Amino acid sequence: MMYDLFVIGGGINGCGIARDAAGRGLKVFLAEQGDLASGTSSASTKLIHGGLRYLEHYEFRLVREALIEREVLLRAAPHIIWPLRFVLPHHKGLRPRPLIRLGLFLYDHLGGRKILPPTRSVDLRRDVTGEPLREEYLHGYEYSDCWVEDARLVVLSAMDARNKGAEIRTRTKCTSATRQAGHWNLTISGKDEVIEARVLINAAGPWVGNVLTNVVRQNESDKVRMVKGSHIVVDRLYAHDRCYIFQNADGRICFAIPYEQNFTLIGTTDEDHQGDPSNPQITETEIEYLLSATAEYFRRPVTRAQVRWTYSGIRPLYDDGASKAQEATRDYVLKLEGASGEAPMLSVFGGKITTFRRLSESVMDKIAPFFPKLGKSWTAQSALPGGDFPHDDVDRRIADLQRTYSFLKPQNVARIFRAYGTNAEKMFAGARFAKDMGQFFGPLSEREVTYLKTEEWVQEADDILWRRSKLGLHLTADEQAALRAYMKPGVKAKPAKRVKV
Ligand code: FAD
Repeated sequence: MMYDLFVIGGGINGCGIARDAAGRGLKVFLAEQGDLASGTSSASTKLIHGGLRYLEHYEFRLVREALIEREVLLRAAPHIIWPLRFVLPHHKGLRPRPLIRLGLFLYDHLGGRKILPPTRSVDLRRDVTGEPLREEYLHGYEYSDCWVEDARLVVLSAMDARNKGAEIRTRTKCTSATRQAGHWNLTISGKDEVIEARVLINAAGPWVGNVLTNVVRQNESDKVRMVKGSHIVVDRLYAHDRCYIFQNADGRICFAIPYEQNFTLIGTTDEDHQGDPSNPQITETEIEYLLSATAEYFRRPVTRAQVRWTYSGIRPLYDDGASKAQEATRDYVLKLEGASGEAPMLSVFGGKITTFRRLSESVMDKIAPFFPKLGKSWTAQSALPGGDFPHDDVDRRIADLQRTYSFLKPQNVARIFRAYGTNAEKMFAGARFAKDMGQFFGPLSEREVTYLKTEEWVQEADDILWRRSKLGLHLTADEQAALRAYMKPGVKAKPAKRVKV
């Protein structure tokens, strides 16, 4: 069969493009070499944000587009995206107050904000957000952005693409792409078959250059600038629900965000990265950097012993020749190649989680000349799977579900609704007692695992523990070992355990 699009990469950009294209009537094949979101798209700071800092680099186009996207995406997936408030303490030695006020004024007004509350001044001597901070911080500003479960946004986009007819193959590497008369021949790992497609989309994130050199075998290409960013996860540092954005003396900023109920997420760093982008790791220098950045602000400094987990990702930025990694553009660049009559290839450089939907629309605009019957743009008004309910109805829906499935702990039902939204009902269907959910691995039931395998491409325990959820932070070592044994092909599941509720 001849596909219209062959997409390399199951990160947010590849899945976003596949979703948009399938919804416009194109036949799409997407190949992801690992699990969905196993690259950069599960290693972000998880903010749907305009990027206050990018205003300093005059990236007004990007900031405006991203600010508008906050509310579009909040409406599309209110189970996995929610509003956050950020407190920016004023540091006397760093950016002056008028500059911060101007930046926040623009931030409030550039993006047509309707749902998110505006910026306010905060007296840190009286406000609860001043309590964990050192005494010299007297004044600050509080502004809005949103949280996103990044890896789940990828999976929901892939599910929507599949619902609209796309073929999504995980653990499938694209190994070669060769131009034929007017189309591409593509080979994928583990299969002898050759797949044919009219247009090739290279959405391989940090591997975009690798695909150009080793898969397409192109001699010269634009460059990706790989910039590593790392986070540390520490025991929860304070009780309130606000986040902090701290300015550092080197001009960078650093976030501290309440995370997974019991933790605080701190990040990030900006370090140029060379070589293979697979499995990046935090260095001791980065850990030290993050600890000392927060020590400048918190009354009780965070210590190395409080670090429970770390993760790192590689930003696949377009190499615009900026001298410092932190100054390289965060905007995306789309490169369409192919002489007249040749099969076209479009490569994606850069792109935020926040702007994936707009990036996908821009990709559709670029390839529209090759598909005269291409449908109109549609994703701005369309919910992602499980997100088909009003954004301000989350609490009521969780309470309803908790009443119906009272045999589970309320916080577990809330977790499930936050992950699956209205699809939670599909997972629970017919269950009346805890035993109907099968074996339990901590709060994770066999029924949920089955749902994840059949609906969300899960194959291994880590897909669940670190991408479909962050249960890896909550399950005990024994519970994780039981899940690993259960997931191993050929190992028979233990009989369902009775669970007390
Ligand atoms: P990826 O997610 O890396 O996806 C590319 C995929 O291609 C990979 O899964 C890879 O396995 C696959 N692939 C590669 N080669 C092949 C092949 N030959 N065959 C098949 N598959 C292949 N953005 C925000 O909006 N908000 C934030 O708060 C934010 N914070 C960030 C913090 C950090 C530290 C970093 C690193 C990034 C952050 N970003 C943020 C940016 C955002 O995470 C990335 O821009 C985005 O995830 C890139 O997505 P992608 O789909 O292009 O790449």
